[in-house]
Amino acid sequence: MRIIDIINDSSNPVFSFEILPPLKGNSIYKVYDIIDKLKRFDPKFVNITSHHSEYIYKPLPDGTHRRVSIVKRPGTVAIAAAIQNRYGLIPVPHIICKGFTQEETEYALLDLNFLGITNLLVLRGDEKGQDPRQEHGRYHEHAMDLQRQINLFNKGIGLDEMKIEGIETPFAYGMACYPEKHEEAPNMDSDIYYLKKKVENGADYLITQMFFDNEKYFEFVGRCRAEGITVPILPGLKPISKKSQLTVLPKVFRTDIPEEFASRIRECKTDAEVKEAGIEWGIRQARELLEKGAPGIHFYTMSVSDSVSRIADKLF
Ligand code: FAD
Repeated sequence: MRIIDIINDSSNPVFSFEILPPLKGNSIYKVYDIIDKLKRFDPKFVNITSHHSEYIYKPLPDGTHRRVSIVKRPGTVAIAAAIQNRYGLIPVPHIICKGFTQEETEYALLDLNFLGITNLLVLRGDEKGQDPRQEHGRYHEHAMDLQRQINLFNKGIGLDEMKIEGIETPFAYGMACYPEKHEEAPNMDSDIYYLKKKVENGADYLITQMFFDNEKYFEFVGRCRAEGITVPILPGLKPISKKSQLTVLPKVFRTDIPEEFASRIRECKTDAEVKEAGIEWGIRQARELLEKGAPGIHFYTMSVSDSVSRIADKLF
C-alpha cells in the first residue's frame, strides 16, 4: 500500500518513525529493540536511512594513520526486508544519490522490486566530507535526478533504455523538505521552487527535517500551499536528550532551538534532566502540530527511542 493512501485514508494522525541501520558489525537486534518498543503505537511505516562510504583514518602502532573507506551503516535494503518479514510493517528504505552509482541504484531498485518493497524516500544524501566512491562512474547530483531514474524504472525503462519486466507495483515515494531552508539554498523561494518540481514529478508526500519551533513548520506549510504544493507535509521530530545537542543540532541540521526551550535545557544539571525536558517539549510540540492539522508525526529515533515512546504514549 502506498504511504500517501495510508495518510489520506487514515482517520487518525499517522505515527511513523525512522531507524538507522546498526553500525557495521553490530547486530540487527539493535533495530528490533527499537521496533519492539514502538510497535504498540501502530506505526504506519518505518523508514530506514541510507549511508554512503566515507574515509576514516585508522591509527597505526608507529603513530601514523591509514586511510580506509567504509560504509559505517550498511544494509538498508536488507533491513527493510527484515522488518517487513518479521513485523509485517511497511518499510520505507531511503534511496540516496551520494555514493551510489546509477547502476548500483538500479540494482537496489531491482532487489526491492523482487522483495515486494514498493515505498521509498528519495533523497540526495548527506555530504560527509570526501566521498571515496564519487570519483568515477555515473552519479546523480540532486534528488530530482534520482527521481527521474525511479520514474523511468516504474515505466519499465532501465539505464541505457534497457527494458525492465515484472514491475507489478511501481515505486511510490516521498521526498525531503526543510522548514528552515536547506543549508545550500540561497533563499526559501529557491528551495520551494525545487520542492514544487519534485512534487510535480511524482513525490506523493514530504517529510521535514527536524525542527523545534512549530511556527517555522506552520509558516513553511503556508508558503508551500501558496505556491500550489498540496501534498501532505509530515513534520519530523527528534526529542533532545543531551545538553551537547543544544549546539550540535543547530550546527548539523541548521535548526533553531527556541529560547524558551534552550534556557530550560541550560538549567538542567544532568543529561537525565535534559531528557525529561526534551520529552516535555516533544509532547507539547507534537500536540500542537496535531491540533493544528499536521497529518501525523514522523519521529527520528536514533538513541532516543525511550523518549519517542513516552511522547507517543501521550498522543497515539
Ligand atoms: P536536493 O533535493 O538535491 O536539494 C539539495 C539542495 O539543492 C537544496 O538547496 C535544493 O533547493 C537544491 N536543489 C534541488 N534540486 C535542484 C536542482 N535540480 N538544481 C539545483 N539545485 C537544486 N541523508 C542521508 O545521507 N541518508 C538518509 O537516509 C537521509 N534521510 C533523510 C530523511 C529526511 C526526512 C531528511 C529531511 C533528510 C535526510 N537526509 C539523509 C539528509 C539529506 O539527504 C540532506 O539534507 C541533503 O543535503 C539534501 O537532500 P535533498 O533530498 O533535499 O536534496
